[in-house]
Amino acid sequence: MIYDIPDPFETFVANKYANFKGMRYDFFAKEWYLKTACCGEELYAPNKKIMNKIRLYHTRNECLGGY
Ligand SMILES: [Zn+2]
Repeated sequence: MIYDIPDPFETFVANKYANFKGMRYDFFAKEWYLKTACCGEELYAPNKKIMNKIRLYHTRNECLGGY
């Protein structure tokens, strides 16, 4: 049997992580990794909550906007 109906759990996970686009978990370093969309700077954080703080801090205070 072919599953041509979208998996509800898969859809749920996709929606749940929509705000974390581009964020990856590095299983070797046990850290979250994000390459910022604004300037391509690489950020690392122990969890997603801290990653969001770091990302906000970056865009507000640190980001050079690619220049
Ligand atoms: Zn930036």
